[in-house]
Amino acid sequence: MILLFLGPPASGKGTQAELVAKELKLQYFEAGDVLREISEEKNPLAQKIDQIMHQEGKLLPDEIMNQVVKQWLAAREVDKGIVFDGYPRKLSQYNAFQRMLTERNIKIDKAIFLKVSQNVSIRRISSRRVCSQCDNEYNLITQKPKKEGSCDQCQAKLVQREDDKPEVVKKRLAVYQQITQPLVEHIRQQGLLLEVDGERPIEEIHQEIMDRLSQ
Ligand code: AMP
Repeated sequence: MILLFLGPPASGKGTQAELVAKELKLQYFEAGDVLREISEEKNPLAQKIDQIMHQEGKLLPDEIMNQVVKQWLAAREVDKGIVFDGYPRKLSQYNAFQRMLTERNIKIDKAIFLKVSQNVSIRRISSRRVCSQCDNEYNLITQKPKKEGSCDQCQAKLVQREDDKPEVVKKRLAVYQQITQPLVEHIRQQGLLLEVDGERPIEEIHQEIMDRLSQ
């Protein structure tokens, strides 16, 4: 089974994608995390990715992004099923992705779209914090750490992601509206979109996704 998760920044798609992957025992591709890992290497590609992601808040060029996915896919057993979170995010990536899947004789089953308003998206981003060591995520309103400013799991300092800072967030939201929203509409027209209200408790959303996937 191949599932895609789509939604604006901080729509909760990462949380829901991970829950579904765990429950259905699917492999999990998280675009932002895979890229953040590559950006920490010491080479020109890593520097370029770091600049675009963290300073500019733009999407990476297709040739880099599609190559990253191609390499990731090449090392996986696709028959076990995969949840894709954060890729594809634009029509050209979607078309390239479908070609990669066709080569492996598989196809997209459903795309889950988490709908949240821009205000909710901004509010959630400004209260998101991550552990500087283990990347565990917190939210200062809905998922507070036990001790202020430190990670429950490893006690390291909690920080704000570079691309969650207000200047970068504005650009990420604009990119979402201009580039990803048209892809959402395209997938809807193909009859693959499963739209879910993302402004509800995590467990309630998860249950709805599971119920609708089993229909
Ligand atoms: P995320 O954590 O998913 O919001 O992604 C963080 C950043 O990684 C984005 O703002 C982009 O710069 C980059 N990125 C993630 N996914 C993609 C993608 N599918 N195509 C291009 N760039 C991406």
